[in-house]
Amino acid sequence: MPVSAARAKMVERQLSRRGIRDEGVLRAMRDVPREDYVEPGMEEFAFDDSPLPIGEGQTISQPYIVAFMAEAAALSPGDRVLEVGTGSGYAAAVFSRLAKAVYTVERYPSLADAAKQRLARAGIGNVFVQFGDGTLGWADAAPFDAIIVAAGAPEVPAALKQQLAIGGRLIIPVGASGESQSLLKVTHVTEALYETEELAPVRFVPLVGAQGWTEDGRRAAAPHVPAQMSCLTLPQTIARAAEPLPDFDDPAFGALFDRFASRRVVLLGEASHGTSEFYRARDAITRRLIAQHGFSIVAVEADWPDAAAIDRYVRLRPDRHGDGAPFQRFPTWMWRNTDVAAFVVWLRRHNETVPQDRRAGFFGLDIYNMRSSIAAVLAYLDRVDPDAATIARERYGCLTPWQKEPSIYGRAVLTEGYKTCEGAVVRQCRDILAKQLDYTRDDGDRFLDAAQNARLIASAERYYRIMYYGGAESWNLRDTHMFETLEHLLRAKGDEAKAVVWAHNSHIGDARHTEMGSVRSELNIGQLCRERFGADAALIGFSTHTGTVAAAADWDGPMETMQVQPSRRDSFERAFHDSDARRSLVDFSRDAALRELLREPRLERFIGVIYRPDSELMSHYAEASLSQQFDAMVWFDETQAVEPLSRSRGQQGVPDTYPFGL
Ligand code: SAH
Repeated sequence: MPVSAARAKMVERQLSRRGIRDEGVLRAMRDVPREDYVEPGMEEFAFDDSPLPIGEGQTISQPYIVAFMAEAAALSPGDRVLEVGTGSGYAAAVFSRLAKAVYTVERYPSLADAAKQRLARAGIGNVFVQFGDGTLGWADAAPFDAIIVAAGAPEVPAALKQQLAIGGRLIIPVGASGESQSLLKVTHVTEALYETEELAPVRFVPLVGAQGWTEDGRRAAAPHVPAQMSCLTLPQTIARAAEPLPDFDDPAFGALFDRFASRRVVLLGEASHGTSEFYRARDAITRRLIAQHGFSIVAVEADWPDAAAIDRYVRLRPDRHGDGAPFQRFPTWMWRNTDVAAFVVWLRRHNETVPQDRRAGFFGLDIYNMRSSIAAVLAYLDRVDPDAATIARERYGCLTPWQKEPSIYGRAVLTEGYKTCEGAVVRQCRDILAKQLDYTRDDGDRFLDAAQNARLIASAERYYRIMYYGGAESWNLRDTHMFETLEHLLRAKGDEAKAVVWAHNSHIGDARHTEMGSVRSELNIGQLCRERFGADAALIGFSTHTGTVAAAADWDGPMETMQVQPSRRDSFERAFHDSDARRSLVDFSRDAALRELLREPRLERFIGVIYRPDSELMSHYAEASLSQQFDAMVWFDETQAVEPLSRSRGQQGVPDTYPFGL
């Protein structure tokens, strides 16, 4: 068959029949000799319905995709077009027949040169090839009536939007993972308004550049664009991006967070440890991620042995005799409250409906309850290996004098010459891990629990010893332990396992972009997750302007319901308040201007279990770059304190066996 007939057949079978209607596009696809743009030796495959290799690990796009993008860009003869990702030069040659001029950028010099030669050989004079980073566009030739991107981006590069003429169309594949994307059409409607439409699921090679992916597949940090570029104020920009939150009980609430469901870990924060709305929102999101998207780990900022009691309850595993009710330690309201109870009851009911190996568990990442961890390890060994239990008793005996008040252990060791227990607890942890094979024959879940308790004791011993010095080291040890616990859980549940984390904003927002990291050298779980999982981790902050909060005035003090001061004028919270977005999700990835404005450091409020309204600035505010710290923010303008369980016995719907021991 002559090649022109082969091309005509390709156009009929692969394009017309699949719905490409634009006559100009069909003609161009018939006329441009695709066989001239493939690697020598591959000509016979030039008309196949697939991408083909062109060197440097890149591909010439499948004919259908080239036609689909050209049609979506609605090219007309006077148009100036930018193409990102020249590759073979084939798509540029097609576009050159539909528009006035095509500017095309390729990041591999070898491909750019080869494309230039092919286009010159074909006598095409209206295509200009440049080697460089196309995520930054081609500023000297801008604005463009159409921009077509032939590689998958993590998000729409701000530079490309800026180089789009009013009325211009940007066609670009965007996706959180490097492998599959959604083809988007962004139209520049008026100066400040862009409209985005999703066209189809697609699969492109990654867009690698300053506003795309890094070479090793992480999200590149966008270069700084001065905030003055936006004509709107910060509150106006927040208002534009804010998506209103439905009621907590409305399934649409959780569905709004489906955009994060493909991530390996979704971290949900809170701006205090005693705000009902933060718990209820995390409950709604987590239900959705578990029930619809296969998440099976809920890992929270709670002590491991206490959360383990909840886990046994929600996964319908046998209770352990002799354990007291969990979460008796200050601050009890953090987990013994009506919102957590509602979630726990839901989780058990949900788990009743799925097979055992698909039940979602509830786990604690934190290290404070050393005493229960010791009891748990000993109880475990008593059952599976009594000889080992005797040795463990002796080793942990070293910590006995300090179990009630571990915080004085560090001082005693450092200043009063008491013996350190480090060697003993580390040896004990190693011994248990070394017997994994023996012990897991009994019950993998129980082994995981015992091993994690042994790890916790080793971490806690060190934590209390170095806490005495103050400084970043003990914080870093605690957050590293929490992150490693998360990793152990993911590993234990298999390659496909996905986790939701509930912890304070100070743990889940990337510490590098707050005073914690930049001034105090503290790291946290959010940072470690980004370093480990890249774009596969979603960091979602939660915050509020005013209302009430459950907190104590001092450590170990009684819980009080306190008024939260309206946020300070110079804080992020005030900008959210001024936006009039009462309850909303603000997804930073959707708005480049917003990201730029929120990048400027401002004060952010952190309320913990202690709240001191009188010294708020000193005690609770720190500077942060919000859009770098988080991927999104969940905002409740006014919030209420959680209700502790002890005050509300006889909760409706909470069964007698409920693990909080009601
Ligand atoms: N339109 C091309 C298809 C190319 S595949 C054709 O018809 O043959 C995508 C191309 O994008 C690859 O050649 C890749 O090297 C290039 N690319 C990826 N990131 C880029 C960037 N930031 N700037 C320019 N080119 C890029």
